[in-house]
Amino acid sequence: MDFKDYIRVIPDFPQPGISFKDITTLLKNGEAYRSSINELKKMVEHLKIDVIAGPEARGFVVGAPLAYALGVGFTPIRKSGKLPYETIEVGYDLEYGKDKLAMHTDAIEKGQNVLIADDLLATGGTIATSVNLVRQLGGNVVGAAFMIELTELNGRDKLQGIDVFTLMHYE
Ligand code: 5GP
Repeated sequence: MDFKDYIRVIPDFPQPGISFKDITTLLKNGEAYRSSINELKKMVEHLKIDVIAGPEARGFVVGAPLAYALGVGFTPIRKSGKLPYETIEVGYDLEYGKDKLAMHTDAIEKGQNVLIADDLLATGGTIATSVNLVRQLGGNVVGAAFMIELTELNGRDKLQGIDVFTLMHYE
């Protein structure tokens, strides 16, 4: 299955110059969604993963089913102010804008192997921040998995030493 057939590309969203890769067209197709998660599962199942961490909101849509398929835990990485218990926070720059991400202080146990999952790797800011949070909690980042990588933005450069797994590449 060519997963790109299910991705809708929207020019100039959410602002001029950004070519947005819309995954909702893949998600609404049961076969394509399940196959994409199964493919990611095959790519990462050799890793000894204890828990998957995914940044809101689309990181949940990839990370949670992947965790379910692998039989491992899932923990959310959220925007500041959303998590109810004690948190740690890290600020970061987006492809468009600035934000802060947070995790519960007990989201990960020291020494646990963590896979980070999101829908798309662009500049790498979101994932570098997620890596930072997981490491601050004592987690060992064993890889990062995405449906889509925008290769031109060189997000991988921010993930030195971390294995990156992606289903689709766009310039
Ligand atoms: P980065 O931090 O790597 O620059 O941007 C990646 C984050 O922004 C991801 O969490 C992703 O959901 C969102 N994002 C940026 N561009 C796109 C896009 O074209 N399509 C989708 N679906 N998400 C995007």
